[in-house]
Amino acid sequence: VNFFMQPIRRLSEFSQQLQDGMTGFERFIEIMDIEPDIIDRENAMELKDVKGDIEFNNVSFSYNNGKNTVLSNMNLSIDAGKTVALVGPSGAGKTTLCHLIPRFYEIEEGEILLDNIDIRDIKIKDLRKKIGLVQQDVFLFTGTIRDNIIYGDPEANDEDVIEAAKKASIHDFIISLPEGYDTFIGEKGVKLSGGQKQRISIARLFLKNPPILVLDEATSALDNETEIMIQKSLEDLSKGRTTLVIAHRLSTIKNADEILVLTADGIAEQGSHENLIEKDGLYAKLYKSQFKDLMQE
Ligand code: ATP
Repeated sequence: VNFFMQPIRRLSEFSQQLQDGMTGFERFIEIMDIEPDIIDRENAMELKDVKGDIEFNNVSFSYNNGKNTVLSNMNLSIDAGKTVALVGPSGAGKTTLCHLIPRFYEIEEGEILLDNIDIRDIKIKDLRKKIGLVQQDVFLFTGTIRDNIIYGDPEANDEDVIEAAKKASIHDFIISLPEGYDTFIGEKGVKLSGGQKQRISIARLFLKNPPILVLDEATSALDNETEIMIQKSLEDLSKGRTTLVIAHRLSTIKNADEILVLTADGIAEQGSHENLIEKDGLYAKLYKSQFKDLMQE
């Protein structure tokens, strides 16, 4: 047995256990708590209104105390409201980069600024309130559909919940169920399809209304119609919000204000689709090899 594989295997067993034995909610809490070292600084400030400018200044980060460097001396600036598509080979650090913004991990060097404030000077709870995550593995907990949507903003009322569900194109489905918004989901409740779960989580984010969004675009194909609807909801959701998207779809990449090509060596290229095609570098190569068949999209 390869010695170095052991920790990885243990980690994946652990994650499998999490998936088998826990409800989504518990799992979510577990993930949020995975790094107990990250706590508020003594004088951490509260955050009120956020524009959503994000800046990485000379950021270096590695997992396992320096053994696995993922980002070194990274510089990046995203203007509020813009959409940045992250592309690049598997393992380049796209997910890691995104997870540094809600401070799931602590950086080693440099600083990450939100509206020119070092995120370490902000109360973690406030920081995370301003960031919406759409992950491939949707987290819903045992409870009613309403509970699951209202989690985005516990102070919302029924009308707000319905409006959010409409924006996420899931309202019609919900009211078609005999118990509507009171329908119980989870282990003993109604089973939902992947697309329905996605849309409930998108409704939750419309309620949460965060100025910053991190989208991990699905790689696994949903049926075409669902996919188009979800794509549309996500486009609506990202309007006016600073959005980082780990992009797998050509249409997302082309529509982004900026594309960031990330490799193991850092940011290889950065610019709009047209700029990068013209440059005829790595992106152009990736584009030709990976998306050749999708050009008509
Ligand atoms: P993909 O496109 O496959 O999702 P990615 O570009 O998002 O890849 P990351 O998931 O950020 O890449 O991973 C970057 C590197 O960090 C990889 O070498 C990965 O094995 C490692 N890594 C990711 N998460 C952890 C972790 N929790 N602990 C240790 N190493 C990790």
